[in-house]
Amino acid sequence: MKKTVLTLIALLLLACCCAALAACKTDKMKLAVQNGDEYNIVASYDDEAHVLSAVQTVKITNRSDNSFDSVKFHIYANQYRQDAATPVVSNAYRGRAYPNGESYGEIVFDSVKVNGKAVAFTVEGSDCDILSVPTENGLFPNDGAEVEMTYRVQLANICHRLGYNDKTVNLGNWYPVLCHVDNGTYTASPYYNIGDPFVSETANYNVSLTLPEKYLVACTGELTDATSDNGFVTYRYRAEAVRDFAAVLSCEFTKISKTVDDVQVNYFYYNDAEPETSLATACGMLSYLNQNVGKYPYKQYSVAETGFCYGGMEYPNLAMVTSGSASYQEAIAHETAHQWFYGVVGNNQITDAWQDEGLCEFVTYLYLDSTGATPLSRNILGCTKTYVTYVDVLDRYYQNVDRRMRSVQEYKSDNEYVVFTYVKGSLMFNTVYETVGANKFWKSLQTYYDQAQFTVAPSSQLIQCFASACGDEAGNIFNSFVGGTEIIGKVTD
Ligand SMILES: [Zn+2]
Repeated sequence: MKKTVLTLIALLLLACCCAALAACKTDKMKLAVQNGDEYNIVASYDDEAHVLSAVQTVKITNRSDNSFDSVKFHIYANQYRQDAATPVVSNAYRGRAYPNGESYGEIVFDSVKVNGKAVAFTVEGSDCDILSVPTENGLFPNDGAEVEMTYRVQLANICHRLGYNDKTVNLGNWYPVLCHVDNGTYTASPYYNIGDPFVSETANYNVSLTLPEKYLVACTGELTDATSDNGFVTYRYRAEAVRDFAAVLSCEFTKISKTVDDVQVNYFYYNDAEPETSLATACGMLSYLNQNVGKYPYKQYSVAETGFCYGGMEYPNLAMVTSGSASYQEAIAHETAHQWFYGVVGNNQITDAWQDEGLCEFVTYLYLDSTGATPLSRNILGCTKTYVTYVDVLDRYYQNVDRRMRSVQEYKSDNEYVVFTYVKGSLMFNTVYETVGANKFWKSLQTYYDQAQFTVAPSSQLIQCFASACGDEAGNIFNSFVGGTEIIGKVTD
């Protein structure tokens, strides 16, 4: 996600907001496709009631060493309920999220079956955010099961990941998605309204979307078929080895496209005076990371202008970018970087948000420097001022301010999360970059990308890739920044 610092430090500048081992890559993607669970979703959208109706089947294989009595899915759509214990958006962003007043949504299940038999499913979790589906005789290691669910998603009128607004319909985190299995256990972590509180494994998707023909669709995956019937169009998509399936719909979209390095890059917009510039930014960043980190493994990438309360949001093959954002081009570059870090290489975005956010922000600065748009030094100076001032202010009130980079739920505010994850995260990667030099920096990222693609990589893996290529000093820099013992000097100019 791309965020901007709000009120407390609004006066401060937040600074706008080698190809890798290609020979192995095809095999790794094939393996990821082969080992991925299969989602099949047939959905239709009623744009008068703002309801998505869907039948979803998921073919699951238990790849852990443990057996499960039940299969767990996150149901993030329930976070839009009026009585949600954790409102989907924090107070700081409510005004931006609800320009037309508060509005609510939810997901309602009509039936759930396992291997064709109806089961007594439960909606549980601390905030009705987990769907628990009992397996008849337990799901043992290497066992498979097919879960079928029929549900309706009521969308809220909200500028958020999921919801409709005046110009677009955002379909992010809209369907039940399997909880990540870590150490043989479902990590059914709750939703937090700070950061992107999601962790998911790569899977394969067949998605059919039926909607009024006036809509254009920007989404994950590749279009395989489209049929029209009585004013409606059914689009069918196939997406392989992706962490999620998301879409943005609009009847006001104009679409422009360009092919870069065999990838079709699409830009969907409705209020952009310089659409060619925006498309060029997406293409430029894609090409830059293809060259410096490793090849984007999918055939298409879409950027969609949309109504959203933050700067943007990343999904596989898709970036939502907020219409009217002051840092629009930076947001496109940042969300494009997420295709590599979050998308292909996953991480735990709850416990180690810096791992994708800090890195994406920093490589965006490197890209902007390479194009001559903004010198790296200017962005780093802005980050240093922001961080030092923020910590000084907190120190004055609280003394011994916690300087660790933490799990999202440990931050007291959106501002604190942004300062520590994006701003301090950028400073951390910049310190490594300045210390080891550009060649070793990119070499480390190439190794990380090659090793960790299609996995959920622990932060220790990223640190180890740098330590192996650059020596212990690089590892020590990461550990001191994450642990809060780093020294970031005062800015005197
Ligand atoms: Zn981001």
